[in-house]
Amino acid sequence: MPADCIFCKIATGEIKSEMVDRDEKVFVIKDIHPQAPVHLLVIPFEHIASVAEIMKGKADLIGRMTLMANKAAADAGIAGKGYRLTINCGGEGGQTVGHLHMHVLGGRQMRGGMG
Ligand code: 5GP
Ligand code: ZN
Repeated sequence: MPADCIFCKIATGEIKSEMVDRDEKVFVIKDIHPQAPVHLLVIPFEHIASVAEIMKGKADLIGRMTLMANKAAADAGIAGKGYRLTINCGGEGGQTVGHLHMHVLGGRQMRGGMG
């Protein structure tokens, strides 16, 4: 784990952040700068720098994150109207925190643009 990784620090409890949900592999927190009425982050406890690091043996982690994201959307009451799941990868992909995470965005109409 890189010493300066904010999501590792949240994962270990070094930085306090309320976990909305968790299982043995992933946890869910509210984004500190929400871009929508519901903006959650689904994050693996394990430090993986980005989705580009997901190799065959780790592919089930993305499925687990998706299941957790769907549950988080349902628990937040936005499952019926729809929501957006986003994984940004690398600089031009818009990734600013170098620890894999999936955004769950909803509670308003998402715009159609892809960036
Ligand atoms: P990215 O741009 O890497 O896809 O998304 C990183 C997200 O993490 C951003 O939406 C940012 O607001 C959020 N974020 C950055 N630092 C923290 C933090 O310390 N706590 C929480 N809850 N969210 C954070
Ligand atoms: Zn990390």
